[in-house]
Amino acid sequence: MILNITPIRAIDWDSPGRRLYHIPFTMDGAWGRVRVPLCVICGPRPGKTIVAIGGTHGDEYEGPVGLKNLIGTLNPAEVVEGRVIVIPVLNVPAFQAAQRQSSQDLKNMNRVFPGNANGSITERIAHFVTTEVLARADVVIDIHAAGSTFEIVRSSSFHHVADPAMFAEYRATALLFGMPFVMVYTSGMGTALLTEEAEKMGKITIGGEFGFGASTDLDGVRWAHHGTLNVMRHNGLLASPMENIVSAWVDKQRVVTQTDIDRYVTAPVSGISEPLVPLGSYVRAGVPVARLHDFDRFDEPGVDICADQDGYVLVRRFRAETNQGDVVMVIGQEVPE
Ligand SMILES: [Zn+2]
Repeated sequence: MILNITPIRAIDWDSPGRRLYHIPFTMDGAWGRVRVPLCVICGPRPGKTIVAIGGTHGDEYEGPVGLKNLIGTLNPAEVVEGRVIVIPVLNVPAFQAAQRQSSQDLKNMNRVFPGNANGSITERIAHFVTTEVLARADVVIDIHAAGSTFEIVRSSSFHHVADPAMFAEYRATALLFGMPFVMVYTSGMGTALLTEEAEKMGKITIGGEFGFGASTDLDGVRWAHHGTLNVMRHNGLLASPMENIVSAWVDKQRVVTQTDIDRYVTAPVSGISEPLVPLGSYVRAGVPVARLHDFDRFDEPGVDICADQDGYVLVRRFRAETNQGDVVMVIGQEVPE
């Protein structure tokens, strides 16, 4: 058990060995401290810094569990060079309340970056991450899950970057997680993201959806834990051989993209959604992929949502109850190698 708190200025970021901290942040409007867990492991010689973060949203569990397992099992003596900084749970008030936003200031951690030293608690934690953690990083991993609204194909992800060498490094790093899909995505769905800030700072930045439905996905935990170890190997921190962590049920890892948010399919009417094809399957344009049922008109067949293009079904609405305008489906294309 970690009994003491460690003020930011007292964190030892550099000495060889492993340290576990609770970093304190003053609660809004009350005495007391939110204690953010942080692990630093430094090898005996300088090298790259890998940052892995879970619990940016409080109801996503593969990051927290996978990274806690990593902290608990990684022998610090195996780190031959460089540094790894692990924050298994970033938005602690959100996590304690098992919800997406902080229970303290109701803010979404993934919409407040780069944060604000004089802001509310979520903004102050984000400011710490930007100035103290991301600033030290070469590679940033932010582990998410699809939340309670959507089911998204299990995927590591990154923003599209124009520079071909940078794109290749992002792609190679994302594939190390062994997940069935790598999603190349757009910034159009949100701003002030942790990953967006890390990218602006020039870091190799990987996100991902490791599960969904506020559950703990069996494969997702393994991908979070062992994918992070693979990223450490890829960057010289560990001398052990790369692990193949692609699940037996995955025939091939696919790099896919849908960066045009006008092609995210929204519900034309409200209703109860029924999936007609499995998530992750390949469909042809015109094939019905979901149906919206109106139970006031149970004698009618419902409204079919058809694929507007050939491609992979990357996202489906997870909650059955659907309102007009909700995203019900996203179809994406494979990115050629
Ligand atoms: Zn999330």
